[in-house]
Amino acid sequence: MIDEKLQPIFDEVLRRNAGESEFLQAVQEVLESLGAVVAKHPEYAHNALIERICEPERQIIFRVPWVDDRGEVQINRGFRVQFNSALGPYKGGIRFHPSVNVGIIKFLGFEQIFKNALTGLPIGGGKGGSDFNPRGRSDGEVMRFCQSFMTELYRHIGEYTDVPAGDIGVGSREIGYLFGQYKRLTNRYEAGVLTGKGLVYGGSRARTEATGYGTAYFVQEMLATRAADFDGKRVVVSGSGNVAIYTIEKVTEFGGKVVACSDSAGYVVDDEGIDLDLVKQIKEVRRGRISEYAKLKGSTASYVEGGSIWEVPCDVALPSATQNELTGKDARVLIEHGVLAVGEGANMPCTPEAVKLFQEAGVLFGPGKAANAGGVATSALEMQQNASRDSWTFEQTEERLAAIMRDIHRRCAETADEYGKPGDYVLGANVAGFVRVAEAMEALGVV
Ligand code: NDP
Repeated sequence: MIDEKLQPIFDEVLRRNAGESEFLQAVQEVLESLGAVVAKHPEYAHNALIERICEPERQIIFRVPWVDDRGEVQINRGFRVQFNSALGPYKGGIRFHPSVNVGIIKFLGFEQIFKNALTGLPIGGGKGGSDFNPRGRSDGEVMRFCQSFMTELYRHIGEYTDVPAGDIGVGSREIGYLFGQYKRLTNRYEAGVLTGKGLVYGGSRARTEATGYGTAYFVQEMLATRAADFDGKRVVVSGSGNVAIYTIEKVTEFGGKVVACSDSAGYVVDDEGIDLDLVKQIKEVRRGRISEYAKLKGSTASYVEGGSIWEVPCDVALPSATQNELTGKDARVLIEHGVLAVGEGANMPCTPEAVKLFQEAGVLFGPGKAANAGGVATSALEMQQNASRDSWTFEQTEERLAAIMRDIHRRCAETADEYGKPGDYVLGANVAGFVRVAEAMEALGVV
């Protein structure tokens, strides 16, 4: 429920952003947490501060023309939403997926403001992308698309302005092509303009692993509050992309047994524990489908076309594919199977109904803003390394990541305690993130 003082703000957001369901969902969730903050700190409701947080500073929508391998001209739509720069340059990934529209980019940009604030690092919030579908496209087509996308985007970004990174459909290959074109257009070797770069041209060690590893660290901290850990736990991780793969890697290192993962066509179950080398081979090298896993692995594994991965019984569920992939119905099944903890590796993968059910059932629930913040935090570490022309070891970088995740967990838990809702990480993350941004916005005046 949104506090009655904040309801008019949400009504206005609804009116101005009609039909942008994911964005409205993300705003509603944050506003539901802010009633108690405004009661305690009325100054945060002055000068239309909350209204301003809900309105992007700048939204850029552009045409992306490119020529496919058959010589035909294709047109996609590009987006960059520069949401809030009170704490630092806009920072957030770029998503290439056919479902991308302005509402999805705005939801992601809005979430990013609070997530980035929670890391304690000097980064604002933004997000971008395109409805381009990389699946089935040749390397040459992906390169030409990235070059055309950057030919417009380059004038809006920069080391001190806006620093994009990867997201769904954008990994190191795409970041390389984007950086190459930026460098050519500007005639500057401005390494800090993009993160998620390859190691040979300014990338950070552990950035590829950071989101997944960070999620595992965060959930480990949540489990510790119940004197539990990953050791011997059955874990289900949805997706089989960047976040899923490195979540599986770290959870396995922590002693958990990941028994299922998926892609948008279906899921695989392997009671022996998912063979991560095989998943990497299929997904990272061959860019294939997860169905191939069952064929290659043999008798211990099975593939289920369609269906819900959340039917697989587990102690810990880590949704790491996409928004709203875990519904109220799925949550009921997981609770029935005795799930102990849920950590969002993806952004907003659990519907509001699912989150409510988990919280009512006393399941530990780590929202994406907190649980998957390790990716952007390590991107900020990549920016630090670029600025100082330095390159840290893997161990040094992972140590920083682990410390940041522990700190985010502590900050969320302490904030939840302070507001009389111990264990409510949703409230803790929203409020702790908001307060940091609000303080900066207040100091900067009405801009
Ligand atoms: P990838 O593109 O590497 O992988 C995405 C995975 O999710 C693939 O397995 C894909 O399957 C699956 N997927 C995508 N869309 C859908 C859909 N509509 N239904 C079912 N499955 C789907 O992306 P990432 O791993 O980078 O991102 C995953 C999530 O994590 C996203 O929510 C992203 O915003 C979030 N995130 C990512 C960060 C990062 O550093 N990369 C940082 C923080 C959050 P298929 O191949 O069939 O499409």
